[in-house]
Amino acid sequence: MFFKTRAIVLREVDYKDHDRILTLLSEDRGLLTVKARGVKSKSSKLKVACQLFAFSEFTIFENRGFHTVREAVPVELFAGLRVEMERYALASYISQTAEVLSQEDSPSQLPLLVLHALHALCGDGSEALIKAAYELRLCALAGFWPDVDGCCVCGKEDADRFDVMNGCLICSGCRAEAGGGISLPLSPGSRDALRYILESPVSSIFRFRLGAASEKELSDLAETYLLRRMERGFTTLDFYKSLKLS
Ligand SMILES: [Zn+2]
Repeated sequence: MFFKTRAIVLREVDYKDHDRILTLLSEDRGLLTVKARGVKSKSSKLKVACQLFAFSEFTIFENRGFHTVREAVPVELFAGLRVEMERYALASYISQTAEVLSQEDSPSQLPLLVLHALHALCGDGSEALIKAAYELRLCALAGFWPDVDGCCVCGKEDADRFDVMNGCLICSGCRAEAGGGISLPLSPGSRDALRYILESPVSSIFRFRLGAASEKELSDLAETYLLRRMERGFTTLDFYKSLKLS
């Protein structure tokens, strides 16, 4: 049986001399594992559309649960990602987190979020903000939508911290009442950015700027929240951070 689907190549693993096994995030079928035969040979017609992070239209042959790529036509290759090591590493982290989330549940908005994040990484926007916006919306898609209307104890809109364990805003004075778990500081600038990221269409969340201090605050918050909620680390994140330090 054949079917067509548009999908992003999240991961590739070499298989035998000329083949690769690809992990695809499909627009309408969630996560797919497919074999791309002969894709490593120079003359392969699949080569371009099957490369890492490509968004392509795939024609796939399915037989007893195994999938093989028959044709692939590139839609968007995100060539800009291959120019800079740090952006490439961040794209790998985006891919890994998207794959992990898709293994349990595949929210229908996830391919769109990944596509917009990769697209943003090809531009000149701040890497830290792209990463933070992606992490926060990923958590939201995973069912951990933070409550950012006001303090989760007293309701005050200008709460000055983010409660990581409860996923909500909280004032310094209300922390004890909420159990006193981990909370991070939130300036007015990063609080507005947090609301913007969670309340805007996915197509808009990678288009904004923030002062350096607020950017740092928002980055720490988004990463801490994601790691706590996913209850695991990511090798791609460790690698990305090692590049930032070097
Ligand atoms: Zn409060």
